[in-house]
Amino acid sequence: MENDWDAVIIGGGVAGLSAAQMLGRSRRRTLVIDGGMPRNRFASHMHGVLGHDGTPPTGLLATGRDECRAYGVEFAAGAVAALVDEGDRLRVTRDDGSVDTARAVVIATGIRDELPDVPGLREQWGRTVLHCPYCHGWEVAGRRLAVLATPAAGLHQVELVRQLSDDVTVFTTAPVDESAAARLTARDIRIVTARVLAAHGRDGALAITTEGGEEFVVDALFTGGEPSIDLGFAAGVELVRADDPGAPLVADLRGATSHPRVFAAGNVTAPYGNVPLSMGSGSMAGAGVNAMLVAEDFARAVEDRTAARNAAWEERYATEERFWSGRVNATMAAVAAGLEPGTALDVGSGEGGDAVWLAERGWRATGVDVSATAVRRAAALAESRGVDADFRVGDGAASVPGEFDLVLASFLHSWEADFPRLRLLRDAADRVAPGGRLLIVSHAAAPPWARELPEHAPVMRTPDEELALLALDESEWQPEIVEIRRREATAPDGAAAHLDDGVLLLRRIG
Ligand SMILES: Cc1cc2nc3c(=O)[nH]c(=O)nc-3n(C[C@H](O)[C@H](O)[C@H](O)COP(=O)(O)OP(=O)(O)OC[C@H]3O[C@@H](n4cnc5c(N)ncnc54)[C@H](O)[C@@H]3O)c2cc1C
Repeated sequence: MENDWDAVIIGGGVAGLSAAQMLGRSRRRTLVIDGGMPRNRFASHMHGVLGHDGTPPTGLLATGRDECRAYGVEFAAGAVAALVDEGDRLRVTRDDGSVDTARAVVIATGIRDELPDVPGLREQWGRTVLHCPYCHGWEVAGRRLAVLATPAAGLHQVELVRQLSDDVTVFTTAPVDESAAARLTARDIRIVTARVLAAHGRDGALAITTEGGEEFVVDALFTGGEPSIDLGFAAGVELVRADDPGAPLVADLRGATSHPRVFAAGNVTAPYGNVPLSMGSGSMAGAGVNAMLVAEDFARAVEDRTAARNAAWEERYATEERFWSGRVNATMAAVAAGLEPGTALDVGSGEGGDAVWLAERGWRATGVDVSATAVRRAAALAESRGVDADFRVGDGAASVPGEFDLVLASFLHSWEADFPRLRLLRDAADRVAPGGRLLIVSHAAAPPWARELPEHAPVMRTPDEELALLALDESEWQPEIVEIRRREATAPDGAAAHLDDGVLLLRRIG
């Protein structure tokens, strides 16, 4: 689908573009949707950005977009109006009605600075009205500076500005307590408590009028805007917000939010972050999205492989009238005959020979197998023998609830190279009730007539090797039988031969 992406990035400022660059370089189909209004658009030059000092903000973004395009990232101008969770996709609708879907979304929509309500301030924002001494302080150092103190910035900003000039005036209507006033006056900072009524540009400077009619002319006024974060478009997705000014999105170092497919970066997560911080968090969010998608791709591949393997078993059963002999395995029967009947689970029960034998000896037996055909035949076998045994389709013991006195895995082998035998055996161990037993009967060696095994022959290990590989908690499991039992057999050419069965009987300490 043309409009289906690995990732959609909402917001193409420095944070969004940094995320896009990482995703493009990771060969992820990535779309950036951008409203084209970066927060620092009011400033002609950018500072404090290593390697880009003095670059116009628009120039940095243009270079960033070109870099991203080189890695296949696509761009759309517009504003996102709605974000909806559709399970394995997020639906992103723009305000012109166009729709994209994506496996992950990065929100990098920044903030809006709510300036103090003073006529003329907004017109001078980014020129003679400045937000950050680190970004624009050097350029006005040593000149006539002022600070319009706001509740958000408090008097901290005044102290930073004093580092830049000896000529500093602070405008504040909030009460300045005695010790704060003493600090400011000790550093020759003028305190003006009259309300600021207006600020207007005049010959490259700023004229500030206060209540009472007094006028102050300064070269720059610093003030901290209140961060305003508009996430109305994401109302359909539950996202945890921080209890900080502006209620930014909570995201970890990889940009992960409270929603598994939504990542966030830049000012929307850290309103006071500058360009380098926003780029860093964007870059990490891009990597975070890719890592999430990589993990998902692997999990899906395993799921698909498991489904294909299970389908192959079903096909094998379905194409033959009967696969196994229907008789109980002699080695299993010899071991189980000595156990007190209780509940039993046969993992990989096939056509039911072992489970039906257990049921005939008083066990309440359940069998699980991946093949529906095998399960049907097992149920028919139980019925024909007049015993109750429950057979169900499932992928190993993990698909059967409850705990059992005996969990049996008898000849759970396969020719598939990636057959997850150890995983299935560990799942089987998990279903053993305290005091119960895990019985694994297996081919401990290839039959004597088949010493030259083809590639991908089933894994055959001695019970000792298998016990070591299972790595079960030794304080919880007590081995009762770990041995190879030889049984008579007839080779395909009719000659007398033998088979080596591995027997592992482990008791779960109660
Ligand atoms: C006047 C001023 C000057 C500054 N100067 C400097 C400086 O010199 N050095 C420095 O380090 N920092 C500076 N900063 C800080 C800097 O602007 C931020 O750190 C930076 O812009 C944050 O980047 P961002 O990508 O998070 O957000 P932004 O740059 O704000 O980008 C967000 C983007 O998302 C888009 N958007 C928002 N909502 C939607 C939506 N619903 N759909 C689609 N797109 C959307 C916006 O249009 C915008 O393009 C300055 C800030 C200001 C206010």
